Amino acid sequence: MNDSRQGPGGPRDAELCGVCGGDGRLENAWGQVAKCPSCHGSGRRREDTGFHDVTKTKPAHHQPSNRAPVVEKQTWPATADGALLAKEIRDAASLSADAKARLTREIIDHEATHGQCTKTFLKKIRKQFRAPT
Ligand SMILES: [Zn+2]
Repeated sequence: MNDSRQGPGGPRDAELCGVCGGDGRLENAWGQVAKCPSCHGSGRRREDTGFHDVTKTKPAHHQPSNRAPVVEKQTWPATADGALLAKEIRDAASLSADAKARLTREIIDHEATHGQCTKTFLKKIRKQFRAPT
């Protein structure tokens, strides 16, 4: 009876038993009801999935999920210069989480295009979160 549930479902379904859908029991075609063999009637998923909503957290401390179905997106610069700048951005008290994510993204994009972080680019980014002296 689970055919209507396609895909892994949302975070709300993470705790529900995937076999019975949280009912704790299974009904067969003849209307007979049996205890779910997977959760033994509790309706709870047995394995500890440790699912967390990471969309609101800092990209720098992003823990990649082992079971992520999508290809892992790059969240941190690959070059030493870029990583250093990203660290400064992460630690900058004046920046909002949104701005931090956007600037870090910019570094990664810049690296993808140029293969490295140019001095001009590093300076340009730093200007956006450092007070001019
Ligand atoms: Zn079950």
